[in-house]
Amino acid sequence: MFANIIIDITHEKLDKIFQYKIPSHLEGRLTAGMEVVVPFGRGNRLTKGYIIGFADKCDYDLTKLKEIQDISQKGIAIEGKLVALAAWMKEHYGGTMIQALKMVLPIRQQEKEKVKKKLRLLLDEEEGKKKLDYYLHKNQRARARLLSALLDDPVLDYELVNKKLNIPLSVVRALEEQGVAVLESERVYRNPVKQKEQVQKQITFTEEQQEAIARFWQDYGRQQYGVYLIHGVTGSGKTEVYIEMIRRVAAAGRQAIVLIPEIALTFQTVMRFYRCFGSRVSIMHSRLSAGERYDQMMRAKEGKIDVMIGPRSALFTPFPDLGLVVIDEEHENTYKSEQVPRYHARETAVARAKMEHASVVLGSATPSLEAMYRAKAGRYRLLELKNRSGHQEMAEVHTVDLRQELKNGNRSILSSKLQELIADRLEKREQIMLFLNRRGYAGFVSCRECGYVVKCPHCDVSLSYHRNGKLVCHYCGHEEEKQELCPQCGSRHIGEFRAGTEKIEEIVKEQFPRARVLRMDMDTTREKDGHEKILAAFANEEADVLVGTQMIVKGHDFPNVTLVGILAADMSLYADDYRAGERTFQLLTQAAGRAGRGQKKGEAVIQTYSPKHYAIVTAAAQDYKAFYEEEIRYREVMGYPPVENLLAVLVSCREEELLETGCRFLKEYALRVKGSVPVKLIGPASPGIGKINDIYRKVLYLKTERYDTLVRMKNRLEQYIEVNAGFNTMRIQFDFNPMHVF
Ligand code: ADP
Ligand code: ZN
Ligand code: ZN
Repeated sequence: MFANIIIDITHEKLDKIFQYKIPSHLEGRLTAGMEVVVPFGRGNRLTKGYIIGFADKCDYDLTKLKEIQDISQKGIAIEGKLVALAAWMKEHYGGTMIQALKMVLPIRQQEKEKVKKKLRLLLDEEEGKKKLDYYLHKNQRARARLLSALLDDPVLDYELVNKKLNIPLSVVRALEEQGVAVLESERVYRNPVKQKEQVQKQITFTEEQQEAIARFWQDYGRQQYGVYLIHGVTGSGKTEVYIEMIRRVAAAGRQAIVLIPEIALTFQTVMRFYRCFGSRVSIMHSRLSAGERYDQMMRAKEGKIDVMIGPRSALFTPFPDLGLVVIDEEHENTYKSEQVPRYHARETAVARAKMEHASVVLGSATPSLEAMYRAKAGRYRLLELKNRSGHQEMAEVHTVDLRQELKNGNRSILSSKLQELIADRLEKREQIMLFLNRRGYAGFVSCRECGYVVKCPHCDVSLSYHRNGKLVCHYCGHEEEKQELCPQCGSRHIGEFRAGTEKIEEIVKEQFPRARVLRMDMDTTREKDGHEKILAAFANEEADVLVGTQMIVKGHDFPNVTLVGILAADMSLYADDYRAGERTFQLLTQAAGRAGRGQKKGEAVIQTYSPKHYAIVTAAAQDYKAFYEEEIRYREVMGYPPVENLLAVLVSCREEELLETGCRFLKEYALRVKGSVPVKLIGPASPGIGKINDIYRKVLYLKTERYDTLVRMKNRLEQYIEVNAGFNTMRIQFDFNPMHVF
């Protein structure tokens, strides 16, 4: 046996793996992620390294291979734990160890450490004053000015001295020579937190909140670290519960990571953590410079903070004693990486927590099917918050049948019910959000008269309209001609579904000329802080109506919003994807949850061509349980996740023919290695976007009940790809249980 080792990850480049012999005294004692001492380089200097895996054959000259000296005495260091996690990720999601390591390890950038210089007074007050008189007497003005500033404030930033007081270095040196003051360097960490600590409002937990906290804490006290799913309606006080749990974990001397879907959209939540944990909390986000990120990681490693908040990558914060990972809005798609390794933060958090004896708390008003499925199977503990913390009522939801609107002669995108309610709110000076559900939009074809949607006969997902004029299934490749007339009612109004936020803004302004309208979408938020500016303006009631895409439905509390209109619920409903129903339910529930967060009761209007679809019916009733039951039945029947597991093998290549041949070989090989194991192979199919930048793409799906079967298949395929030069022209990626089809 040989061990694959990387050397001293914090300083060296990550791009090389070294093999070492395992001496007999260490046989059977080594595991991946372990820190070991190895001779390295020409002088065989003893260095620390991390085992990232094992091999039974040696790729190098055996006589030159060195031996591992010993297991590092320090035991498993923080990096060792993360290396072990990387090894787990590589196994679970595919890709190389180097790719996984790059994901999990804070890498020192070649950036200057920011050094702050300070000038400190060395004299006591009496001596100082004497010296000041002396300078004044000698008419040494700059020295006098500096000394008198130091007498007011015995430690000054050099930058301030230099720039604001306009005192040159020569003067500072003179004071140093005379023993008046000393210039000191102190390494400071860049801290992205600008906000000062504030007092937190005192709250009394509701019974449900207390119960959730108590159950978590009881287990914790018994060192039973588990995974908890908090299913709490919008406004039920989940965030307050997280904060309390973290407070206790931190008081016990351990640290916590809080994952949020996206900083810009959850700014209010982040600020609440600041108010509570002050300088003991830090934040990671994409706008931080590489140096700032690195510094945040080091602050965590050195015990300078207790809480790290950030998007999924914050999961790899190198805390010395991680005690808790919170994942807010755990159903969000952003928790799945779109880069290799395509890991899911939820599963990876659970894996990390297990390795480090920590707990995981997931929270959502609309838990993912995955999380609820596991909670029902007893793998996660379910904590429910059924009521809003202030006992505000949930919004009243109206469902409007757009087919009926058309029959009644209303061709506007705003139904008569919605128009009536908008007028009412404008009158009362209350605010309105109009939400256009564009996510998952993939050109599905439907009938505006009867609501019929063209679906794949094999996969029960909607077909997409392609530029070649055909209707295509992105799962199995099924193709058919586009119909001219609706097969259900014979109407001519069958076609692609389209509408945009700009158009809606225009229509609202036209119908309600006095309304002040703000729009939030990709276009209006492109500039820096674009989100915050629009949200702040709306919060300050500088507008009556906010029109936007799903960005506007997340996490914001606008107490004066009492009406939410969902203009075309079907847009996400018929995305060509088995998660379309789930996503629609989530979006509609979150959107309806925006109405009536203050004292006034809210109303929501859902406009749809499919008022009888279970995702719409259950969202309108705000009945998660009913939705879950229907949806899980569909997944069972079709064998989709979480009931079964799905592995997408994405293959891309410049040459279309090579790609096709490659896919054929892969499929044949997969069929061969699966043997009698019941793995279904689907495709290769053309993904939604068949070509990007002149690179052709195809996708092959493997479906089976057990995840570990898919992992084994992935490992075999990876080996097969590696030894066959024919695949060199192709890029092949694995995606386990993808969030969308390709
Ligand atoms: P969620 O995260 O479930 O949407 P939040 O934690 O944001 O809910 O709570 C919604 C609002 O209610 C917040 O302003 C929060 O401070 C407040 N809140 C939560 N719990 C309580 C409580 N027990 N007493 C008073 N206010 C509360
Ligand atoms: Zn029809
Ligand atoms: Zn199909």
